Amino acid sequence: MLVSLILVSVALASANHSGEDFEGHKVFRVTVEDENHINLMHELASTSQIDFWKPDSITQVKLHSTVDFHVKAEDVGTVEDFLEQNDLYYEVLIGNLRSMMAAQFDSHGRATGHSYTKYNNWKTIEDWTQQVAAENPDLISRSVIGTTFEGRSMHLLKVGKAKPNKPAVFIDCGFHAREWISPAFCQWFVREAVRTYGQEIQMTELLDKLDFYILPVFNIDGYVYTWTKVYEPKLRGTDEIKTIPILIISSTSTFRIECGGRPALPRLELPVLAQTLTETLMLVENGASTSPCSDTYCGSTAESEKETKALVNFIRKNLSSIKAYFTIHSYSQMLLYPYSYSYKLPQNNAELNALAKAAVKELASLHGTKYTYGPGATTIYLAAGGSDDWAYDQGIKYSFTFELRDTGKYGFLLPESQIRATCEETLLAVKHIASYILGHLY
Ligand SMILES: [Zn+2]
Repeated sequence: MLVSLILVSVALASANHSGEDFEGHKVFRVTVEDENHINLMHELASTSQIDFWKPDSITQVKLHSTVDFHVKAEDVGTVEDFLEQNDLYYEVLIGNLRSMMAAQFDSHGRATGHSYTKYNNWKTIEDWTQQVAAENPDLISRSVIGTTFEGRSMHLLKVGKAKPNKPAVFIDCGFHAREWISPAFCQWFVREAVRTYGQEIQMTELLDKLDFYILPVFNIDGYVYTWTKVYEPKLRGTDEIKTIPILIISSTSTFRIECGGRPALPRLELPVLAQTLTETLMLVENGASTSPCSDTYCGSTAESEKETKALVNFIRKNLSSIKAYFTIHSYSQMLLYPYSYSYKLPQNNAELNALAKAAVKELASLHGTKYTYGPGATTIYLAAGGSDDWAYDQGIKYSFTFELRDTGKYGFLLPESQIRATCEETLLAVKHIASYILGHLY
């Protein structure tokens, strides 16, 4: 009986899912200037099915900010009426999600197989980790740090010239499944390491003196989930129907049966571990959710999710060598450092601020892309459970979150044609920080 009940749930879940074609779905941006606006946003969120893009949840909406959210076609009229009746200033960022999704795959000659300028699915990325390590044994080794909720291997690449006792930098990508540009960056980093080692002075020095641990996708189950729906657009001017996977934008995370088709997010637990129930509630209020079906689920206990456990175990084991930690996200064009779970400042705030400032300047030098920077809580919003905060509190003094392109025109649906430029500019910033750390080892 139990078995058949579970099967029914799965069937219902997939039925829900395949019914979505995103035709007529819109993404809105609302400007929040006073308390009344915040209250109105709470009211809207409680009465309509809203998928928050930025911030991640209604609890993170703050004064003098903008809120991006996705609304289904059938709710668009109600939401627009609500915004207009209440004089909320808004713009439509994306008028039709379906056409924007097709536009995401705009790179020329989409071949099957791995490409650094395409979004690759998990199977392709997994094969690539094996291949790139096999082809570059003097620079890359591959290991498995754990398995996911659904049993997939979490592959980690160690990139650097093999020497004992090297300091290391840890970079993770794909924490949040819908942020596809993030895994693209991790792959790009490895490409550039292999391609420019021995050719380019800075990269050669970095790989000679540091090891880079690259986790190409952290939330693999979630990433796979975002690729499960197949969308068949008609190519303009032809009768050809191209089958492409689409990004399921409303789902950031691991699929769970108990959520009836909604995902649950393996997220690093509240970092400083609240000593009391009041503190826990405060942290939860500041951006994390206790619902396993929420996109900002904080886990049932600290490090309760398998993926989280694998990551923290690895970092703890290698804590004496890891000198910097980067977690790569999108979107917003921001370079953030601790803290995000509270407004308190890190002990080396001035140093991190100067370093972030220099890194975003370096980033902008290539394509003019403007980034803002600063401590997470004041620069973006309060968000508990971030891995950068956790890493910092473990003693990793240089801990950063990148929020890559863009600032909302495409949001999570950044076109493939922007992968190259996004990765090139981000690499400049990462290299800048890594070089700084070489001069400030601790
Ligand atoms: Zn993210």
